[in-house]
Amino acid sequence: MSYVRVLCCRRCGREYPIKPISLCDFCFSPLEVIYDYKSLAEAVSRETLSSGPVSMWRYRDLLPVDGEVVDIGAGFTPLVRADRLGRELGLERLYIKNDCLNPTFSFKDRVVSVAITKAREFGFNTTACASTGNLAASVAAHAAKANMKSYVFVPSDVERDKLVGTAIYNPILVVVDGTYDDVNQLCARLAERYNWGFVNINLRPYYAEGSKTLAYEVAEQLEWHAPDCVVAPAGSGLMFTRIWKGLNELSILGLIKPVNTHMYLTQAAGCSPIVNAFEARSLHVHPVRPNTIAKSIAIGNPADGYYALMVARQSGGGACAVTDEEATEGVKLLAQTEGIFAETAGGVVIAGLKKLAASQAIENGKLTVAFITGAGPKTQETVADIVRPFTIQPTLESFEEVVGKGNQSFCGSP
Ligand SMILES: *Cc1c(COP(=O)(O)O)cnc(C)c1O
Ligand SMILES: [Zn+2]
Repeated sequence: MSYVRVLCCRRCGREYPIKPISLCDFCFSPLEVIYDYKSLAEAVSRETLSSGPVSMWRYRDLLPVDGEVVDIGAGFTPLVRADRLGRELGLERLYIKNDCLNPTFSFKDRVVSVAITKAREFGFNTTACASTGNLAASVAAHAAKANMKSYVFVPSDVERDKLVGTAIYNPILVVVDGTYDDVNQLCARLAERYNWGFVNINLRPYYAEGSKTLAYEVAEQLEWHAPDCVVAPAGSGLMFTRIWKGLNELSILGLIKPVNTHMYLTQAAGCSPIVNAFEARSLHVHPVRPNTIAKSIAIGNPADGYYALMVARQSGGGACAVTDEEATEGVKLLAQTEGIFAETAGGVVIAGLKKLAASQAIENGKLTVAFITGAGPKTQETVADIVRPFTIQPTLESFEEVVGKGNQSFCGSP
């Protein structure tokens, strides 16, 4: 049914059948889904894609699934013209891809929807993940919908709001005393021992493909154009590589012109191994120990760091790190100019965008899309200092004494 051909090793090119595997047996590099683009080009057009469902599943032909999908409504989120933020930063043609508006309030619903669909196709009745927080909620929610059992593993410093937002779907929630990288190593061992579909381990090649829908949507929402510049957060780096892949696939299929998009990735300075490598002009991403409030992207040893680095370099883009303070200011700036409340990872994007605009790496006039991948209520405590209300008695006098006099025009009068 699908247009998938094989899995292919990103480094040595060896091919593998479509199975729940993620690494090459020979060089241990990640495997990637390869499609039959010739048949795809005959089957899809702008019209066929645009007439699909109003979700990420309108791009189903470009995703590695065969059966009925596990769909809780991920994708087709708004691309909003960010005039006020753009004026603030000196970018006249700025857009925000608002992926806060997914069912579990982060872009992870895109990748999980594909991975859980695949898990069911492969016959798993249990699904699992190693999560920095957002993935756990998405896996638990999709497993609930698919009537599958789920084990979700998170590091001990995960935000409390993310635990609640996960536990509500009733997974087996396991808090591991360690960092995300410790959680990930444990899960790799569990994946060898148990016959579970780990969305970001043995199902990772399929999971990865869900992120391409971010690129498809943006291109369609820009009336089938690629942006001049993309600014997006990087944890493992996987999403960043798949935004790039998605844009290039549209061009291969003749749906957009050849891609000339400059890809910029952003990380928190407290966990910026990919930015470090970019700035050192090195090909090696050295692991770090994370220390940042941007926990959803706090991955010290990023599995796809090398490939994300290559995308930033080869696209003529870049990489930019920001402090936690700058990220918090970024969250506030986005909320106070565009009315969009992002989590800390979004603050990292806005603060990075601000630096890239100030240094003219991104010039005014370039059509720029910033990807906001998670919603603010998940990391509320980091901006709680914003709450400084007036406290008054329920009287006019108290209002005017404490808050001050408003302007005294009544409804309808000038
Ligand atoms: C997981 C996540 C990312 C990064 O994803 P990677 O593919 O690991 O780079 C970005 N933003 C948010 C909010 C996330 O939860
Ligand atoms: Zn290989």
